[in-house]
Amino acid sequence: YSNADRLVRLINDILDIEKIEAGKLSFQFQKTEMASFLTRAIEDNRAFAHERGVEFNLVQPTEEFWAETDPDRMAQVMANLLSNAAKFTPEGDAVTIWAEKRGANIRISVKDSGPGISYEFRKQIFSKFAQADSSDTRKLGGTGLGLNISKAIVKAHHGTIDFESTPGEGATFYFEIPLLEEETNKPDAERSEGVVARILICEDDLDAANLLSLIISEMGYETVICASAAEAKAAIAKENFAAMTLDLSMPNQCGLTLIRELRAEERTSDLPIIVVSSDAEIGRTELGPQAVSVVDWLEKPIDINRLRNGVSNALAKSNSDVIRILHVEDDDDHIAIVSSLAGEAGFIDVAKSCVEAEAFLTAHDYDLVILDLGLPDGRGEELLPMIRRSSSVPPQVLVFSIEDLDVPYWPKVDSALVKSRTTNNALSDKIRALLSRSVYRRDITIADA
Ligand code: ADP
Repeated sequence: YSNADRLVRLINDILDIEKIEAGKLSFQFQKTEMASFLTRAIEDNRAFAHERGVEFNLVQPTEEFWAETDPDRMAQVMANLLSNAAKFTPEGDAVTIWAEKRGANIRISVKDSGPGISYEFRKQIFSKFAQADSSDTRKLGGTGLGLNISKAIVKAHHGTIDFESTPGEGATFYFEIPLLEEETNKPDAERSEGVVARILICEDDLDAANLLSLIISEMGYETVICASAAEAKAAIAKENFAAMTLDLSMPNQCGLTLIRELRAEERTSDLPIIVVSSDAEIGRTELGPQAVSVVDWLEKPIDINRLRNGVSNALAKSNSDVIRILHVEDDDDHIAIVSSLAGEAGFIDVAKSCVEAEAFLTAHDYDLVILDLGLPDGRGEELLPMIRRSSSVPPQVLVFSIEDLDVPYWPKVDSALVKSRTTNNALSDKIRALLSRSVYRRDITIADA
């Protein structure tokens, strides 16, 4: 029975990992009161601790904490942290669990008195199949996948997971997710219906900042304006933003160094950034391969439609079920055409060179790659092998270029259109057809798995 039970857990963990990697782990978010959630999670896992002669002590929260969670997925995170703590705590000892407010977040901590985490193992602990001592698998049960899955789940809640430990003196694992503001503090009816995404506007020119704020507010989001990098960093330290717009030329610290700093921090490594600046193109070149981590680069004066698309894309980015398209193209007119035809179908990343395309393909899985052949630093055809290898379900490839694709490459792509001979309608139909094929294949592969 216990072998079967272990096998079921292993299979479930592997299926979750498959889903995470395919971007198909789905979430049903709802407003959750975290103190009662915590009590329930502890009750659900107490029997496991008792088997090992370990107690769970919950420091009962004295106030209510509301957060937007998928309670089943969060229960999975709690089960992982609690079972790890119970596994490693010596018989007769207790594991302490508590919740506390940290700025705009709630932090839930699980503290044990086990062996702690050795310095050598720290870097790997959240990776797949990582176990400090593989003989644990037999002694204590476990797959080495739990923390990796927990990290993905917490990340989908816009949160972070980490631990503190002195080897030999136990470990405290904790995760933080954003709190919903208290009902009584909510300024208007809109807020009581759910969380309104907040967008940070980092812009020193007040007129431009107000214009950005107006456009974004009209889309139904809240905005916070900061006039310098320092102000932006202080605001980001206080709360989690859904996205930010960034001017590159600001007093004291330029926007590019701010991007580098934000990318180096775990909490903001994925914060969607839209650059809105009179030197956006220069900045994009200067930032090099890291430029692909920016949602869009908009020159001033602001193109309102492109900004709206950028904001929608930035918010869609955190949704792993969204269709993702890579458009490899250096011509701005064609970027605009594809954006207007396919922008609603999914999230579009634009790579203006082979180097940028390679960086995008390394960072993400795509459903469709639209490929121009003449690029400033090489030929689009050279990217084909990498595109095929880039994901377990290779993306559909549409060559869209001013020239015909050479015959030897035909088997390597799904479709090829020549710009001068293709109407916008034909291009739009082709993109839609390829995307529906891609999504169908994605589902089949998951079902097979
Ligand atoms: P497993 O299914 O093996 O528990 P996890 O991803 O949850 O997988 O944990 C990975 C490894 O991290 C464990 O095998 C163990 O070596 C280490 N670990 C996790 N939690 C603790 C803890 N509280 N104390 C000591 N080591 C831990």
